[in-house]
Amino acid sequence: MLNALLPHSGNAFRIGISGVPGVGKSTFIEALGLLLIERGERVAVLAVDPSSAVGGGSILGDKTRMERLSMDPRAFIRPSPSSGTLGGVADKTREAIRLCEAAGFTVVLVETVGVGQSEAAVAGMTDLFVLLQLPNAGDDLQAIKRGVTELADLIVVNKADLDADAATGARSQFVSALKIMGHRDQAWRPEVLQVSALDGTGMEEFWQAACRFREVQTSSGGFEQRRRAQDQSWMWERIEAGLRERFRRHPDVRAALTSLSDEVREGRVAASVAARRLLDLFN
Ligand code: GDP
Repeated sequence: MLNALLPHSGNAFRIGISGVPGVGKSTFIEALGLLLIERGERVAVLAVDPSSAVGGGSILGDKTRMERLSMDPRAFIRPSPSSGTLGGVADKTREAIRLCEAAGFTVVLVETVGVGQSEAAVAGMTDLFVLLQLPNAGDDLQAIKRGVTELADLIVVNKADLDADAATGARSQFVSALKIMGHRDQAWRPEVLQVSALDGTGMEEFWQAACRFREVQTSSGGFEQRRRAQDQSWMWERIEAGLRERFRRHPDVRAALTSLSDEVREGRVAASVAARRLLDLFN
């Protein structure tokens, strides 16, 4: 089905949205989603939250968090698939993006919690990666996590209504941090914006910045290049996951695995030797 739909997919603007719990992701997505459907866009909201398998509740499981958006027929909200590993969850979400596009959605928002590898996974499946931050985050250099900040195409300081001075301070901290960090795309200079998702201030400016990003990336070729690279690494990720699973299921490997890994644990066989022996059994 994915293959049949492939020619009809690819037309949406894929936007990843990340930030620590409580930063205002749901509030931001609801505000943005409502703004966009008023302009005739069709908005799908997906999520990557591998922790939901453990905690039992997905970040989007409780749809009341986006009460108005979830009730609008022009929007579609899907909770995070709660099946196991990050790789599996990310895989299902990538497929869901294609299905949403084929169904005619023009903007796909992919939400993720600001922890661990899930941010990198979402940055690896979207056109634009947005990092939400709190106004006091600038005081705390820990909040400027290098890895994820380098992935950010736009940084949004949310809750600017609470303390405008703090938000302005945080904004300039991020601007200077970005100057020394560099960015994965040559043509784009990440911007730092200030918004209040709660009262809607700055949401219009956010959308303008997102569209600016899309224009710059489209004319530089970065947009297509990113998507092509993403498809390639998606394929390799699936190949590697599939190989690992087949390897573990292989009868000869299974027969030898327990004793060899015991021997490695006890220091009787070098790990690299054990790995080579097991790989030789797998053909
Ligand atoms: P998430 O965990 O990142 O999805 O955060 P939520 O969207 O659930 O927001 C967490 C809390 O912050 C809620 O009580 C929101 O009402 C509040 N909040 C979100 N955005 C803003 C904002 O711009 N200003 C203020 N004052 N509160 C906000």
